[in-house]
Amino acid sequence: MTPFSYRCTDCGRTYSRDEVRYLCPECGKGYHPGIPLLGVLEVVFDYEAIRRAFDRAQPDWNLFCPVEKEFHPPLPVGNTPLGRVDRLGAELGLSSLWVKNDGLNPSGSLKDRASFLVVAEARRLGIDLVVAASTGNAASALAAVCATTDTKALIFVPEKAPKAKLVQMVLYGAKVVPVKGTYDDAFALSLEYTAQRGGLNRNTAYHPLTIEGKKTAGLEIWAQLGYQVPEAILISVGDGVILGGVHKAFVDLQRAGLIDRLPRLIGVQAETSDAIHRYVETGVYSDAANPTTRADSISVTCPSNAHGARRAVLDSQGLTLTVTDDEILEAQALLAGRSGIFTEPAGATALAGLVKLQAGPNRLTGSGPVVILATGHGLKDVEAPLSRISIPAAVAPVLASLSL
Ligand SMILES: *Cc1c(COP(=O)(O)O)cnc(C)c1O
Ligand SMILES: [Zn+2]
Repeated sequence: MTPFSYRCTDCGRTYSRDEVRYLCPECGKGYHPGIPLLGVLEVVFDYEAIRRAFDRAQPDWNLFCPVEKEFHPPLPVGNTPLGRVDRLGAELGLSSLWVKNDGLNPSGSLKDRASFLVVAEARRLGIDLVVAASTGNAASALAAVCATTDTKALIFVPEKAPKAKLVQMVLYGAKVVPVKGTYDDAFALSLEYTAQRGGLNRNTAYHPLTIEGKKTAGLEIWAQLGYQVPEAILISVGDGVILGGVHKAFVDLQRAGLIDRLPRLIGVQAETSDAIHRYVETGVYSDAANPTTRADSISVTCPSNAHGARRAVLDSQGLTLTVTDDEILEAQALLAGRSGIFTEPAGATALAGLVKLQAGPNRLTGSGPVVILATGHGLKDVEAPLSRISIPAAVAPVLASLSL
């Protein structure tokens, strides 16, 4: 760990580590459920200390981590493989295309990274209950991490979350409360719970260490490319915290003098859950009217990190785009069939965005590596791809019945 303070991303006020917990006390006053979070806090390290201590030959990633190692839960999270996908790259006109397979985290999604760090923080603070609202993955991640510690998990999820995700949370031993309503309803209820009944709230972006946890995916990409900044990283976007976290990784590296530019961050949203995309394009925020996408993990009316996500895209000279559910499911099949990686619809959304981008005027040139972040495992929701494939009928076990 390196010494750090919190800085408000809206007003710039700084706070010491134990002075604040969630949002900026000043800007957060203006926040109420139903609008994107105000006063999201950013961790600002002693970058000179990181610069002096970081050694590429023996990288100590704890330098970039805001919770001491002694509090880390005993569950290996992250360090997921980054692999080249040449068959896919050839089709998309990119000679150096890579997939970071974050579905290979313990609970099957990138959310493990955020849960890991918030549970570490709860242990540092001596709080034995962590509360979260989730579309499904943040909750199963929190439940998995808590299973390895004395910390309890209390989870609010929309009742329509995919079965496998609900099974995971219950099996890991969390207290699960399905909510009759949307993810946004669950988010509001969980905030009310921690405000009135206690526990540490893990809601995405609301707890600043969710961004720091997701940041680790970006640090790994840099290291796995041989300490190279990619041309672009494609990221599926719901609340915009993965996007914000990956941006923070490269901002930290730049502030520490370890890199001299940011990768272009390309945020991809589902067409019906497009609040951040429209905010980036127009500069004016409004909710997604009716997020009905099959990519449940990115189905959000009011993205909590809308402001941070927009800043991340603009700062990195990136862009956002939207894709339809058909394009998402096609991309899921394309990735599976070309690379052997089975990612859930939200994970495939990033590739769907790349396919669309490469067919249009803003296509990536391939001047450097391009990375697709596959954020969750495909087995979390097998109903989604089943809507467009069929399992062959069974045959009698005699060779004559085979037409192959
Ligand atoms: C949560 C999630 C996302 C989106 O992350 P945000 O931080 O909400 O933008 C994308 N893919 C998967 C699989 C997720 O679980
Ligand atoms: Zn502030």
